[in-house]
Parts: sequence; C-alpha cells; structure tokens
Amino acid sequence: MSETTPDHSANPLLVSHTLPEFSAIKPEHVEPAVRELLAEQRRVLVAAENVATPDLDWLRSLEHISTEIDRVWGPISHMNSVVSSPPLREAFNRCLPLIAEFGTELGQNETLYRHFRTLQERVDPAKPVERQLIANALRDFRLGGVTLTGAPRQRFKEIMQQLAAQQAKFEQNVMDSTDAFEHRETDRAALEGLPQFVLDRAAALAAERGFEGWCLRLDPPTYQTVSAHAESPALREKYYQAWVTRASDQGPHAGRWDNSALIEEILALRHEAAQLVGFKTFAEFSLATKMAESPRRVIDFLRDLGERSRVVAREELAMLTEYAGRKLEAWDVAFYAERLKQEKLELAEEELRPYFPLPRVLDGLFKLCATLFDLRVAEAPRPDVWHDSVRYYELKRPDGTLIGSFFTDLFARPNKRGGAWMGGCVSRAKLNGRSQAPIAYLVCNFNAPAADKPSLLTHTEVITLFHEFGHTLHHLLTEVDYPSLAGTNGVAWDAVELPSQFLENFTWRPEVLRDIGRHFETGAPLPDDKIETLNRSRTFLAGLAMVRQIEFALFDFRLHDEYTPERGSRVQAVLDEVRREVAVIEPPAYNRFAHGFGHVFSGAYAAGYYSYKWAEVLSADAFAAFEEAGVFDRATAERFRRAVLATGGSRNALDAFIEFRGRPPDLDPLLKQAGIATRQ
Ligand code: ZN
Repeated sequence: MSETTPDHSANPLLVSHTLPEFSAIKPEHVEPAVRELLAEQRRVLVAAENVATPDLDWLRSLEHISTEIDRVWGPISHMNSVVSSPPLREAFNRCLPLIAEFGTELGQNETLYRHFRTLQERVDPAKPVERQLIANALRDFRLGGVTLTGAPRQRFKEIMQQLAAQQAKFEQNVMDSTDAFEHRETDRAALEGLPQFVLDRAAALAAERGFEGWCLRLDPPTYQTVSAHAESPALREKYYQAWVTRASDQGPHAGRWDNSALIEEILALRHEAAQLVGFKTFAEFSLATKMAESPRRVIDFLRDLGERSRVVAREELAMLTEYAGRKLEAWDVAFYAERLKQEKLELAEEELRPYFPLPRVLDGLFKLCATLFDLRVAEAPRPDVWHDSVRYYELKRPDGTLIGSFFTDLFARPNKRGGAWMGGCVSRAKLNGRSQAPIAYLVCNFNAPAADKPSLLTHTEVITLFHEFGHTLHHLLTEVDYPSLAGTNGVAWDAVELPSQFLENFTWRPEVLRDIGRHFETGAPLPDDKIETLNRSRTFLAGLAMVRQIEFALFDFRLHDEYTPERGSRVQAVLDEVRREVAVIEPPAYNRFAHGFGHVFSGAYAAGYYSYKWAEVLSADAFAAFEEAGVFDRATAERFRRAVLATGGSRNALDAFIEFRGRPPDLDPLLKQAGIATRQ
C-alpha cells in the first residue's frame, strides 16, 4: 500500500456495509472516511448533471447519494451522540462544515434544478410517489433561492448569511444576560421552600465565589425551582423580573444585551427573503413545508382553541386565587399550582417507579404492537455495537417475514447526550435492483439496572419510551421505496409527531397500565386508585397550560404574518393584543417575553410554534378513533398503519389523515383529553 492510496480495508466506515462494525470506529477514521465519501458523491453528482434527459433511473441514482451519506455520516453522528469523547467530537466538528458544504452544493445546484423541471413534465401522472418526490425537490430549490438570477439571487444569499449571524447573536444575548444574573443571600429564611439539593449547590457556589451564604443563578432549572418552591414572594418576583426581561431594555441588566433591534432586523430579513422567492409573508414561506394549508387556517385554529380553553383557564385561576386567599401576581401562579397539586393529588412521581420495571414495560409495549398491528417484536442476535448495554430487535410479520429492526440504547451514562430520540440508522430503499430494510436507533436516558433490581421507570419515562417507539414504528412500517420519503423523512414537520404522540395515549389507559404496571418485587398490579390519580394529574390545570402555549403560538404566527416594512414589527403591540385575547394572567408592564423567545428568533420555530398544538390535535383525534372502536381495535389500527405509517412523506399529511379518519382533524378530542371540554 503506497502512502497516497488510503487503505480502505482498515477503515470500518469505508468497508462496504449495511451496518458498520461500530466498535471498530475510531476518531481517526472519521475525516478520511468523510472526505472519501464526499469525493465519491461529487463524482456521482457530476454524472447526474451530465445526463442528457433525466428519467426515473436518474432520480433513483440521486437517492443513492443521500443513502451513501447516511451510511457513512449516520454512524459517526450517532456515535458522537451516544459514546462521545473529545477526539471524536473534534473529528465530528471538523467534518460538519464539509457535510454542510456538500448539502449547499446539492441544494444550490441549478443544473439539477433544471433536470428536475424537465423530469416533472415527463413523469407519468400515475406515479404519485415519484411526483411527490420531484415536487418536494422543486419546492426546496425554490425555498433555497435557486430559481433566482442576478441581483435578487445575490441578495437572497446575503440575507441568509445575515440571518444566520443575527439569530446566533440573539441567542448569545439571551445566554449572556442569563449568565450575568446572580442572587446572593445571607439569610437562610429568605430561601425557605427550596429543595435541599438546590441549597447545597447554592452554598457551594457561594463558597467558590468566596463569600458566606448562598448564591443562585438564573439557569432554567433554578428559575423553575424558585418559581414553584420559594416561599418568599420577594424572591419569586426578583426571579420573575430577571427572567422576563432578559436581553431587553428592562430589568437588572436593562439595555446591556438588548435584543430589540435584532428582533426588528430578523423580521425584516425574513420578510424580504420570503418575498424574493414569491411569498407574500414569512408566515406563508414557513407553511410551504408544513401540513397547515394557509396562514388563515393557523390563526383560526389557534383562536378557536384559545377561546375554548380560556373559559376553563379562568376557572382554574379563580380556584388557585381562592386557594391562595389573595390576588395572584404572575410570579405566584407556579408556586400555588405546585402546592395545590401536592395537596389535591397526593401523587409523587417517584412513588410509581417500583411498578414500572423496564423489562415488563417493554414486554407490554411489544404486546401492544402485536395486538394492534399483528406484528412480532423479538430480540435478535446482536450485531457489533457501540456499547455493551445496547440490544437489537427485529420486527416481523406472523409468517416470519422481516419488516425492519432496531437498536435500543436506553440507559444514561457519561458521554451520552441527554434526552430521548429515535434516529434513522438505515432508511428503507428499493432502488435499481438494490433493496434495504429499515433500521432505527431508539435512544433514552433511563437509570441503568442495578445488581439487585431492574431499571425502574417513572410514568413520564414510560410515556417517553412509547413516544420514541411511535417514531420507530413510523420509520420501520414505511412502504415507500425512496429513502428521502420513507418513514419520517419528508413528512411535514407539524405532522411528524403524530405517530409518537398517538402512541403516548396508551400509557394512560387502565387496560395498558394494569399490564405494564407490576411491582418489580411483589408482582402486584398498579392499584386502581393510583391509576385514577395518575389520570387526574393529566388534566390538572391543563387550561392554564393550554392558553400559555396558545399565547406563544399566536404571537409568533401573527408577528410573521402581519409584518410590513412600512409598519415594522409592532412586536410589543402584537404581544399585548394576543394577551388581551387569550391570556388570563396579566403580566407586569416590564415583561419582555419576546426578547428571550429563542425558539422563534434563533431556532427553527419561526412561524412554526403552533406545530406543537397542531400535532397534539392530530394525535388526540387519531386516538379518539380507537376510543370509539375499542382501543385495541385491529381494523382501526390497520387503517392507521396503511394511511399514516406506511406512506411517510410520500403523500400530503392532511390527505393521509382524512383517509384514516374519514374527515379533517377535529379539536374536540384534545380538549376532552385535557379535561377542558367536559368542564364547559
Ligand atoms: Zn417526537
């Protein structure tokens, strides 16, 4: 082997594989593999540019590019999330820009765009999946500015760069102003109500800073703990004020990291970009990749939900006020809500843990899958894996045909990213004579089992497991042959949480709880009174939570829908109007919520925050079909599988929903689920 020819046989990422030898992947393999991969895919891309007349084989060869990138880059980013190390992270970060650059080359490729247009005219109308694939590609080219020429094209690029920088600056301001806040305390009584572990941490921080007493910061968990537990109204108010004035012209650091100008600039740039590519507003631009049909539809949806929830939210506030015995300020609500909950429900999350041993919960989940879809989940011989606690399962039809498989990596450990997620490991593909069955990663962060007891879950963790398994089923049960539309790929993102949230609903059902809830030592079933209390906790103060989310969503959407360069954003005016319409708690005049709203000003939720509620409506309504027919009704499950799970991104999400439900989505099931409809 000469020095100029890399030895591929030594790099597990470059050896031909469906699944790589995970345990053999080392940080030093990453960059050579990525460079080799991209060089090869650039050759494929050049060949694709040079075809005379694009046809379906051409389309399939382009799909191979994303399959190949997943095959090499997928395991790298997966391992960076679950078994990270400084050298791996460094290698990963070095390659990120290379991958992004290739993505830009694809997304900005005018020759490909022209080929797609030619193909759109030629493709058989009886091929809906291919037509959808082409339509999505053309849409994304348009949203990326490829259709522009000359000065507008240049301007679009500039806008995108400026937006990226300003959105990052917005986030930086929020972080800096959050980090700048400290509360120093020498009087222990002023901290009454805070949990011991918070006090310990505060004492340690004070010692580190070299003074007596306690020092509390403004990170989100501390803010939430103070709001819910601090007995001192003065301390709660101080925290509230610091939190809602971050990065603004108000509060303890007024004007220091003020996001006011950035908000204006970001909205102006988004509006201009949307208009350049042919939309009236950024709200319209945002909806181009979503299930909701029009801005009007989103606003009506939020207003309808808001109006119906507000009645109940007012009642809940009245109940809380009566309980507190005085008028509640914005910083009192979480505190009294927490107290009332403990008094009324007498249910501690931790109390249920012994009833949810992980092996039993998994068995119950797989049994549910068999009952609903007539499919078998069984542990299979494990391929090479990245960590010893990983398990491997196969999903099969009763006749033994393999549908797909998945890894579970369920326990928290150092160097593993927090939270829970489903990741596509291999997407289903059937292209030009090659086919591959889908494979998923199902990742959680539960407590690992101990020598003498299994991993025990809280009910919230049970919900998490069902949620991620819902995404897993979506990934595995797809019948689409094109990877970019298979499973969750290409699904409108206000609809992608439908299967996952749908499956969560089963974790509240007594039939399911009696099955998965068994005491790990005695085998006793979860008592009926606990099941009942658990279900009451689901609807506790749900109206207040609902109107709060609707306030955020309506504010975000109206801001992007109503913006004009002449008027500017009217950010505080829109927020005030929305609050008058849907909120039940009047915030103080210094409240600058918008200035810290990172989801919308620096994240991916611009004119998209409504998606949370939208997907909840879909999943509650889908589950209602099961409640009507019987929660384990196989015919209903089969309809759901065929219309929603099997079709992935290959068809319009609303059409798929209507095929399943026989009508468009309805709000009532969500309101009923939140206990709101029944109280009106
Ligand atoms: Zn999810």
